[in-house]
Amino acid sequence: MKSRLYLSSPDVGDLEEKYLLEAFRSGWIAPLGPDVDAFEREMAERVGVREAVALSSGTAALHLALVGHGVGAGDVVVTSTMTFAATSNAIRYVGAEPYFIDSEPDTGNMDPALLERALENLAADGMKVAAVVPVDLLGKAANYTKICAAASLYGLPVIADAAESLGASHAGKKAGAWGDTAVLSFNGNKIMTTSGGGMLLTNDEAFAARTRYLATQARQPVAHYEHTEVGYNYRLSNLLAALGRAQLSRLDEMIERRRAVRSFYRDLFSEVPGVRIFGGCNDDDDNFWLTSIEVDSSAAGWSAADLRKWLDKENIESRPLWKPMHLQPVFSDTSSLLNGVSQRLFETGLTLPSGSVLRSDDLERVACSVREFLASSVPA
Ligand SMILES: *Cc1c(COP(=O)(O)O)cnc(C)c1O
Repeated sequence: MKSRLYLSSPDVGDLEEKYLLEAFRSGWIAPLGPDVDAFEREMAERVGVREAVALSSGTAALHLALVGHGVGAGDVVVTSTMTFAATSNAIRYVGAEPYFIDSEPDTGNMDPALLERALENLAADGMKVAAVVPVDLLGKAANYTKICAAASLYGLPVIADAAESLGASHAGKKAGAWGDTAVLSFNGNKIMTTSGGGMLLTNDEAFAARTRYLATQARQPVAHYEHTEVGYNYRLSNLLAALGRAQLSRLDEMIERRRAVRSFYRDLFSEVPGVRIFGGCNDDDDNFWLTSIEVDSSAAGWSAADLRKWLDKENIESRPLWKPMHLQPVFSDTSSLLNGVSQRLFETGLTLPSGSVLRSDDLERVACSVREFLASSVPA
């Protein structure tokens, strides 16, 4: 059996090894150290924000962003239904209730018109909304121009879940620089990785300082461990920050590689009836993290699930798009404003191997398998 091809494997090599070993040999093994400070500075500069706080995961960053904006029990947080569970889990950590907004058809991102209606309805019902948390799906930045305008009408902070979109932009401003606070993830499958890690980004220096304090057990600056608040152990270790610096120096190269993967699939499916490359064509808003297709099975004569089973037999990983949060059993008792788009994307979408580690012969292997599948499934 050929080795398995994954959706998005870590892309690490000699440079990462060198940075990691240098940090190890420098003796900065314990949490924090010069690589954490440098990683924060380099990322803040890259995204164009004043402050970056390195944390142990993107989920931890979401949690502290909500805590920092004072979101708590009884609050409603309006967020995208089309996302990974981490976004809505963090909302529950602080005792708030997520309210889910459905998607724009081209990108799967939060539909700003639905957001406006939801905020109006929630205000009319006297609900206490505390924040808006849009998500940049699969590397495509959400429409922050409209989302931030809608949120500001109600004086609400925007926490941008940019876990998937580092390197993308919207209206000429980088993903991660939109909103009052933004969150990045460096999990193993993201566009760059620290093996596990995340960051909180903000232009507010006091907010960043308070996040660093909360992330280190809310220790008062005295020798005897004085605490006046409950804190968290959420900082990124210095070794992992060193890995992150190596990855950040290669980010553009890795994005270019993923862009090439996207074009490869565009060509592969260009003549196939009923198949559309997901995410629209505005490449500036994209970092090409994952490439997905949407399959209209009545036009194609086969379904996304058929192709997924076929690829799996050939040891090629593919997956449906995120199952929307309003369809998840754990969030079945929450409210939402829906237009059917996210459910359709879940039912008709398929994400293909998209990592920057994929070599041309790997992509050729996927292409061969897809062609064989098409030859065997399309009615003559
Ligand atoms: C990966 C991801 C997260 C969580 O990041 P972790 O670093 O895995 O905790 C949050 N939101 C979205 C949209 C993600 O894709």
